[in-house]
Amino acid sequence: MLPPLEETLRGSLVERFPTCGKPGCKCARGERHPPVWYLTVTLAPGRTTGAVVAPEQLEQVRRWIANYHRCKEHLEKISAINRELLRRERRQLRLRTATRTGRWVWRSAVFAGLFLRSGVL
Ligand SMILES: [Zn+2]
Repeated sequence: MLPPLEETLRGSLVERFPTCGKPGCKCARGERHPPVWYLTVTLAPGRTTGAVVAPEQLEQVRRWIANYHRCKEHLEKISAINRELLRRERRQLRLRTATRTGRWVWRSAVFAGLFLRSGVL
């Protein structure tokens, strides 16, 4: 089943160990402060944005990112089916046998068949 679209998030989580800059601090000696999680999102090649994610938000953000990938997989499968459908429909059109209604019925039937076989649902 498709995850809820409103619970999707594109991006990746990265863990950073910040240094605070205080000379006497343990991080100046190479010890680590607790990690800070960031969500980084590529907007365009070479352009990214991001935001700090609170520890309490981590689980939800991970789930939303996973949902995003699942939705994307579904869309890719449906697109592959529709490419195949267009190819078959074009072949059918070249035979010039399909009436307007006939073509619609044929398209729905072929889509349903391909859809079920793809295991999208
Ligand atoms: Zn420090």
